[in-house]
Amino acid sequence: MSKQIIGTCALCKKIKKLNFEHIPPRAALNAAPAKPVLIEKLLLSDNLPWETKGIQYSNLQKGMGLYSICEDCNSSTGGNYGTDYADFACAIDWFLSRKDGTLFEGIEIQKLHPLRFIKQVASMFCSINEVDNSELDDLREFVLNKNAVGLDKTKYRICMYFTHSVFYKYLPLSPIVKKSNEIIRVSEIATYPLGFIMYLSPNMKSNYEGIDITSFADDNYDYECKLQMPLCVKEVNSALPLDFRTKDEIVGV
Ligand SMILES: [Zn+2]
Repeated sequence: MSKQIIGTCALCKKIKKLNFEHIPPRAALNAAPAKPVLIEKLLLSDNLPWETKGIQYSNLQKGMGLYSICEDCNSSTGGNYGTDYADFACAIDWFLSRKDGTLFEGIEIQKLHPLRFIKQVASMFCSINEVDNSELDDLREFVLNKNAVGLDKTKYRICMYFTHSVFYKYLPLSPIVKKSNEIIRVSEIATYPLGFIMYLSPNMKSNYEGIDITSFADDNYDYECKLQMPLCVKEVNSALPLDFRTKDEIVGV
């Protein structure tokens, strides 16, 4: 008998049977079995920050994800947005996997629907955050209505980076103190080869980590473009938010 999980859907907030939501989508290199551990257990262990050995894990045969979204929301978001996300992730994988030693400063993607892509990212942030956090309600509505355009940039800033690291993390909103003593609240998703940071109520004058893709939300659903962006590659070796230190930097070499 298949597993039945009843809960509050991270998008429509109705209490329903929840489906397993691949985060990122399955076609975005997320079909292999995974053994996730809880961040608290990893942080409290004596392991190096990227080592999960000896820590109790779940066994996810289908890839990384959560039971977070009801069947209706799952099929509409996956069908409407997942393909663009997966195509983009596979293009970045191809790019990062090049072994010819060529150094690039930027990347060009031939075809992308920016709105569909960012709606997939927004859906993932809804999945990994508390469903009763009303601060994300605008984000939920943005995802649920495929034709909804625009995100309030005083509320949300979504940034992206690329990574070679295979350290996956889902970090719900948490406060961070920047070097300038500014306190910001961020949620982060890192899944090879893409990472995303969502800043809540960002300071419009501050610079934040990653490539700002919030304006992807301003295009129509069917708008397709050629995209050029800087090659913003970061290492992910710890469960802490915005921690892009190399392994050597973490161990103090
Ligand atoms: Zn739903």
